[in-house]
Amino acid sequence: VTGFTEDELIEVVRTLLSEDVPGVTLGIGDDAALIDMGQRLLVLTVDMLIEGVHFELPWTSPHDLGYKSVAVNVSDVAAMGGSPRYALVSVAINPEVEMPWVVELYGGMREAAREYAMSVVGGDTNRSDRVIVSVAVAGEVAPGRAVSRAGARPGDRIVVTGSLGAAAAGLRLAEATPAAMGSALGSAWGHSFLTAMARPVARVGEGQTLAQLGATSMMDVSDGLAKDLSRLCVRSRVGAAIHLSRVPVAPDLDRLPPHLAVEPLDLALYGGEDYELLATLPEDAVEAASGALRDRFGTPLTDVGQIRAEQGMVAVSDDGTENPLAPGGWDHFAG
Ligand SMILES: [Mg+2]
Repeated sequence: VTGFTEDELIEVVRTLLSEDVPGVTLGIGDDAALIDMGQRLLVLTVDMLIEGVHFELPWTSPHDLGYKSVAVNVSDVAAMGGSPRYALVSVAINPEVEMPWVVELYGGMREAAREYAMSVVGGDTNRSDRVIVSVAVAGEVAPGRAVSRAGARPGDRIVVTGSLGAAAAGLRLAEATPAAMGSALGSAWGHSFLTAMARPVARVGEGQTLAQLGATSMMDVSDGLAKDLSRLCVRSRVGAAIHLSRVPVAPDLDRLPPHLAVEPLDLALYGGEDYELLATLPEDAVEAASGALRDRFGTPLTDVGQIRAEQGMVAVSDDGTENPLAPGGWDHFAG
């Protein structure tokens, strides 16, 4: 265990680097930075995937890794309400990696770039003892349509797209031996968990629609609903009440073999890597937003709770009892 959390590290970097520079509409500490370019806001984000931290070579398809390295950045652009446009990719490979692996990796990036209508316009390559894939994405958003983490207001409803927990279940399966995968091996539900982990879907259209329909704050769920909601609350200086029975738990999580099993709700709250969108909306905007997401994208939008003025998060049970909800969740620095 290292001496600091990821959030503490980001706060130190933010303090060191934040200066009042003209044109910087939103700096460090959100899903992406926003730069004023006149007619449009430029959306900038970067993310790194590291062998041994985010993936292991034996169970990772290079094509999926390339795809995911782009998609997770697109997800951060989506979380601002923006459209992705250009990517720069930096790749470090170790001596065991062969050319076909590298070709597949870049093929996966190309597939994601096409799917999200963007271009890879440059990058860098290097040798390292671990495989590292770092992608930076530039996108754009109209001024007035960008949504940060900071605008949630007491009384707003808390909504989340899609369902949660499948990617975390996929990671457990990926790390298991074939024997330990048990009934998951070759099953449709096991495959869907692995796909959720390896090929996340960035909710670009959904993010733009939520921005258009009045989202007061938004972020993507990369480290688990509980941790990411706590980050949104800190930035907005509010608290939150989550109704546990409303959390959209991914189907079939209770089918995980016994020795891999975790409470499905725990996977949904603390699992990470779902890349769904978490947003806040005024109460009277929720119905229109969920209808629009269903009709335009076939994506469910679930109302999971409410923003409160008092800071801190509580979990509300069906009988109305309230208990503190710990942020928990995934932290790359806490391992
Ligand atoms: Mg994010």
